Amino acid sequence: MNLTADILSQARREGRKALLETEAKKICMEYSIPVTKFELAKNETEAVKDADEIGYPVVLKIVSPDIIHKSDVGGVVVDLKDEKGVQNAYNQILKNVKKHNAEARIIGMLVQEMAPPSTEVIVGAIKDPQFGPSVMFGLGGIFVEVLKDVTFRVAPITRDEACEMISEVKAYPLLKGYRNTPPVDIGAIAEILLNTSKLVMDHQEIKELDLNPIMVYEKGAKTVDARIILE
Ligand code: ADP
Ligand code: MG
Repeated sequence: MNLTADILSQARREGRKALLETEAKKICMEYSIPVTKFELAKNETEAVKDADEIGYPVVLKIVSPDIIHKSDVGGVVVDLKDEKGVQNAYNQILKNVKKHNAEARIIGMLVQEMAPPSTEVIVGAIKDPQFGPSVMFGLGGIFVEVLKDVTFRVAPITRDEACEMISEVKAYPLLKGYRNTPPVDIGAIAEILLNTSKLVMDHQEIKELDLNPIMVYEKGAKTVDARIILE
């Protein structure tokens, strides 16, 4: 009855520490964290059918328990506009992945809705050895990777704490809008932080969680990639 618990116990049974993106996103959905629409395709024909259903443009991504950083192995192709594009990307990704790791087990290809480019934020969680589950917030790209402009709170967090986290990063003014760029939906980010906090409190076997990136819009937000690592 509890989808998240089922997914976690299946991974444990199979001895997998890193969940597949499909599994991580299903868990997000159970916790009302918005994610891009997706379907798992087992072959090229299915991928085209899924893309037609989801609607173009779409993104194709490798699904393999042996690949954690998908774009590092050429496992992600974005902005596919038609059937031919999907077919080409499907074969190209398989080729790229095999070149990097000939042994990688391939579950299939994730066909997903392409989220329009926008301001990118990151929500994360780690299980701190001392403080237990803790949540993290930052803006995507150079803000986290180069400037380390991130903030943490021990879970569970309140709505006020979620809002505090968002407003205390140095890049906060970018979220409030500047020049021609309109403000983004800060309430939607706070909601994702709260739901992430709830998720890691409910399931303490989660060692790391990474929603990276989340596209934030004037109204709403969408998680484009989700990673969950178990203890
Ligand atoms: P990984 O982090 O495993 O390399 P991602 O799923 O994050 O793979 O994909 C790499 C990049 O491709 C993302 O950071 C994002 O910029 C872009 N991307 C991936 N999926 C989508 C999507 N559904 N819509 C728009 N952009 C996407
Ligand atoms: Mg990613």
